[in-house]
Amino acid sequence: MTYPTQPTASHFINGEYVEDTSGTPINVIYPATGEIIATVHAATPALIERAIESANAAQAAWAAMTGTERGRILRRAAKIMRKRNHALSVLETYDTGKPYQETSVADATSGADALEYFGGMAATLTGEHIQLGEDWVYTRREPLGLCVGIGAWNYPTQIACWKGAPALACGNTMIFKPSETTPLCALKVAEILHEAGLPPGVYNVVQGLGEVGAALVTDPRVDKVSLTGSVPTGRKVYAAAAECMKHVTMELGGKSPLIIFEDADIENAVSGAILGNFYSSGQVCSNGTRVFVHKAIKEAFLGRLAARLEGAVIGDPMQPKTSFGPMVSERQMNIVLGYIEKGQAEGARLVCGGARLDRAGFYLQPTVFADVSDDMTIAREEIFGPVMAVLDFEDEAEVMARANDTEFGLAAGVFTRDLARAHRVAAGFEAGTCFINSYNDAPVEAPFGGVKASGVGRENSKVAIEHYSQVKSVYVRMGDLEAPF
Ligand code: NDP
Repeated sequence: MTYPTQPTASHFINGEYVEDTSGTPINVIYPATGEIIATVHAATPALIERAIESANAAQAAWAAMTGTERGRILRRAAKIMRKRNHALSVLETYDTGKPYQETSVADATSGADALEYFGGMAATLTGEHIQLGEDWVYTRREPLGLCVGIGAWNYPTQIACWKGAPALACGNTMIFKPSETTPLCALKVAEILHEAGLPPGVYNVVQGLGEVGAALVTDPRVDKVSLTGSVPTGRKVYAAAAECMKHVTMELGGKSPLIIFEDADIENAVSGAILGNFYSSGQVCSNGTRVFVHKAIKEAFLGRLAARLEGAVIGDPMQPKTSFGPMVSERQMNIVLGYIEKGQAEGARLVCGGARLDRAGFYLQPTVFADVSDDMTIAREEIFGPVMAVLDFEDEAEVMARANDTEFGLAAGVFTRDLARAHRVAAGFEAGTCFINSYNDAPVEAPFGGVKASGVGRENSKVAIEHYSQVKSVYVRMGDLEAPF
C-alpha cells in the first residue's frame, strides 16, 4: 500500500483529531483486495459527550456570524477540496472500492459543489416582512441548533458534505457519524473545513457502529437528525427522533422503476440502464433497478445491453481504465449473491453475469435478469448491488400502475421520444426524483429525496435550507393594544 490510509486519529472533535483507543476497534478493509488498510476506534460515551458539548458550545457564536462570513469559509473549503481532488479521490477509492475513474469526478467534486452552493447561499438567507395595516410581522430564519448527520457507506465524502454544507450555512453545528464500513473520508472533510477557517466545534466527526448513531439520535441536546441509510434503520432513527420531537431528514433506500417505451433511442436507454444499475457497482440508492422495457423492443434492448456490458473494465479500481469495481464489503457481496440465487430459483432468466469473480476482493459480475415478474423477490426488494431486473410491458397505464406498486418512492426514469408522454409519466411517478431520457443525475441545484418509505425531506437545492432552519415570526404592534377588560 503506497498511499497513507491510516488517519491521524479516529475522530475530529472541537477542531482537532482525537483518539481514544479504548473504543471498539473498527478495521477498514480495502474492498479490492480484502486487506486491512486502517483501524479506527468507535467513540466511547465520554467522546460522544465531548463532541456534543463542543458542538453545543460553538453553535451560538457560529450562528452570530454573518451569512457572508460563514459562506466564505464554506467556499474556501470547496476550493481546497477541488485542489486536493486527486488525493481525496484515492482515499474514497480505498474507503469504498469504487473505481478512481468514478471517484475523481463524482465524490470530492460533488462535496465541493455542495460547499460552494450553500456557501453562496448563506448570505442570502433572510426572513420576510408581512404588512398588516399599520402593524406588521417579520420573520427571522433561525438555525435549528445541533444537527447530527449519519451516513451510509456508498458516498462517504459526498454524504458528509451534502449534510454539513446546508447545516453550517444556516448557522447550525454538526456531529457527523460515518458508516463503520467507510470511516476515512469524512475526517478529511472536517480537516479541510477547519483549514478553511471553521471555528472549532462547528463540524465534528465521531466513528462508531449503529449504537453510536443511536446515542446521538436520542440525546436531548440534539435538535435534528439527517440519516442516509436503509429503510429499516430509517424507521428506527425516525421513531427515536420523534421521542424528543426532533427535526429529521431521511434519505433511504429504493427500488426505482425505469420505463423504456418502444419509441426510445435504444442506445440512450441502454446508457441510462447501465448508469442506473452498474455505476458504483450498483450501490446507489436511486438506482433504476426495475427496468420495464416495451415488449416490441425487449430483445433488441437486451442484445445491446449484453454487448455494451462486454465493454465493462472490471479490475483494480486504481487503474484509470477500470470502470467497474468490487462491492464495498464481503457482507454486501454475499447479500447480493443471495439475491442472485433467489432470482434464479424464482424463475427469472439470467441474461449475463450472476457470479463472483475468481480473484481477491469482493467482485461480482454485472448481472442482468430478464423475464422478471412483479412479484419476484428481485423485483420487490432493494438489492444494492449490480443486479438489473428487466420486466416487459405493453401499455402505458399498465406499466405506470406496476411502476408505482412499491413501498419505495425514491427515484424513477422514463425513456421516450414522445414529449407529452414523457411529462405525463414523470407527473404520474410516485417518486421524489425523476429523470426524462437520463438517469441518476444529482446536481446540487436540484432537490434530491424520496416519497413513501424512501424518505422525508430533501437534500440539495434551496429546499434543503427549509430542512436546516426554522422560521420565527414576530408580531409588531404600532399603536395601543385593546383588551376586553
Ligand atoms: P444502514 O441503514 O445499515 O446504515 C446507515 C447508517 O446508520 C450507518 O452509519 C449505520 O451505522 C447507522 N445506524 C444503524 N443503526 C442505527 C441506529 N439504530 N441509530 C442510528 N444510526 C444507526 O445503511 P447502509 O450503510 O447499509 O447503506 C445502504 C442503505 O443506504 C441502502 O438501503 C441505500 O438505499 C441507502 N442509501 C440511501 C441514499 C439516499 O440518499 N436516499 C443514498 C445512499 C444509500 P453502522 O453501519 O456503522 O452500524
